Amino acid sequence: MTTLKERFFELPNYIVADAGYGGEENYQAVLEDHERTPLITYAMYHKEQKKKFKRNPFFPANWPYQELKDTFLCPDGRKMIFRNYSIRTDKYGFKRYLKRYECEDCSNCPLRSKCTKAKSDKNREIQKNMNWEYFKATIQQLLSEEETGKLYRQRKIDVELAFGHLKACLGFTRFFVRGKQQTHNEIGFALMAVNLRKYRLSKLENKKDSSILRFLGLTS
Ligand code: SF4
Repeated sequence: MTTLKERFFELPNYIVADAGYGGEENYQAVLEDHERTPLITYAMYHKEQKKKFKRNPFFPANWPYQELKDTFLCPDGRKMIFRNYSIRTDKYGFKRYLKRYECEDCSNCPLRSKCTKAKSDKNREIQKNMNWEYFKATIQQLLSEEETGKLYRQRKIDVELAFGHLKACLGFTRFFVRGKQQTHNEIGFALMAVNLRKYRLSKLENKKDSSILRFLGLTS
């Protein structure tokens, strides 16, 4: 995004990408560094929208949260109490701030076998990354709104079609060279072929020469 902005054009208001890019660091960069709106799902997004997930009482995401007391209520109605913060730094140096919660007392719980694999003398613990939860809620809200949801769905049509064509029709499923510059050149040729085809297609469509389009297999 920085390269695009510096070398090519002003970034659009919405940054659209697939779930592979849906991480805390990227959301933060889009929202805070670039001051744009991310329309990017995350790995668990579709799973979390399913009834099966939403109805599972053992997923902490479904537990009621008492904001003033900073506690969650577990499926047996016991309190998950905040214990401490921890910081996790990934290999790129990005820091995640986690809150650790522990059940007040899991002893004699009839749901224990379904809820936790913790040793019998230990209580269930969970960790929450509030920054991540905030980003997830933002994305869920944006994707549920009509305008932004439509924009996100359009990504599949605009982007995946080009990749699908490249792989299925042009047979470009792997690189034949190694090294950054060589692969850069190779993908450049492949994308040039896709663009030339699209250019030719648009010319033919302009002429409304349907017989040629049919001959080339470019219409249904
Ligand atoms: S095992 Fe602990 S956290 Fe799980 S339902 Fe029972 S009391 Fe709650």
